[in-house]
Amino acid sequence: MNTVYLDNAATTQLRPEVVAEIAKVLSEDFGNPSSTHSFGRHAKGVIETARKSIASNLGCLAQEIVFTSGATEANNWIIKSAISDFKVERIITTKIEHHAVLETVEHLGREFSIDVQFLNIANNGEVDLSQLEALLAENVPTLVTLMHVNNEVGTVLDLVKVGNLCRQYNAYFHSDTVQSIGKAEFDLKQLPIDFAVASAHKFHGPKGIGFAYIRKGLIVNPMMFGGEQEKGIRPGTEGVHNIAGMAKALELSYSNLSDERSYIAGLKAYAVTSLTKAFGEIKVNGSAENGFYNILNVCLPMEEQKALMILFNLDMRGIALSRGSACQSGSAKPSHVLAEMLADEDIRKPSLRISFSHYNSKADIDVLIEALKTI
Ligand code: PLP
Repeated sequence: MNTVYLDNAATTQLRPEVVAEIAKVLSEDFGNPSSTHSFGRHAKGVIETARKSIASNLGCLAQEIVFTSGATEANNWIIKSAISDFKVERIITTKIEHHAVLETVEHLGREFSIDVQFLNIANNGEVDLSQLEALLAENVPTLVTLMHVNNEVGTVLDLVKVGNLCRQYNAYFHSDTVQSIGKAEFDLKQLPIDFAVASAHKFHGPKGIGFAYIRKGLIVNPMMFGGEQEKGIRPGTEGVHNIAGMAKALELSYSNLSDERSYIAGLKAYAVTSLTKAFGEIKVNGSAENGFYNILNVCLPMEEQKALMILFNLDMRGIALSRGSACQSGSAKPSHVLAEMLADEDIRKPSLRISFSHYNSKADIDVLIEALKTI
């Protein structure tokens, strides 16, 4: 059976060059980076070269990049650190964050009796920034945590605007940048942002590896103990092959960015036109003007009872996409993001998240639409 993969916001296919890099490091650079002999020094060299490459692609200092097991860990660590190390008394966020932020904030908010404020969300997924400013003006020591690109609907946050507000009112600013690092340019030195996170498997790299960007001068304490790796703030023997694979993936993402971005944006436009031709009125969830180029979340004019079966039916035909965020697919619970944005009657209708990469083609979209017509 031919398969069609349209779930690139959940994870992406590795580039062959990344697989080759990982295989090379696994076979040639097996030393423990903490060992002082030549094998260890060599492995350590691979890590530090990767760190420099990542930093130069994102316009920051190598020392500002700390490797983690992925973005869930990095988000948890930063939010915890804001409470314990920077003594924030309040966290401002939204209910449309990824669970890696939302559940962390809710859990830590309860544990440390921190005031948690959720900003209003417009029905296109945009965050109420005037409410943010009004809250910041109260001058409570605050962490603002707002994601850059929403992983379900693709709505883009203005990082400069939010970051400048945070600077103006002396609040710390953390952004979950998982869906945009590797897919949009970053100049972290210029951006008014204190903490960002990334996950390699979202940009054609390996799983189980990511990093936290922590602006120079912000001293965070370790979340775990037991080793000197990552200057002691993130101990544990490094996955050298994963780190090298991630750096390779990021480098390739940025060297191909302008071509791949316009190609993927073309696929998204083709999908909207073709779905409209096939189904008449479709409703795009999220912001039409301010939606990221590789994520399309659409509400189809189908009966409500088809909503639950649609992904299953597509999967039977070898077509992979998602209803909400990846961890929710298959669950009968409505997406927490769509629940926040849509009217009740629209939440029950079939909404699909179609997310593209440069490995997709218009033929994939045609296959999807033919399959949808038979459901
Ligand atoms: N944040 C966002 C916006 C995501 O899309 C994801 C992945 O689904 C994560 C965090 C979690 O990343 P990781 O898989 O690296 O833990």
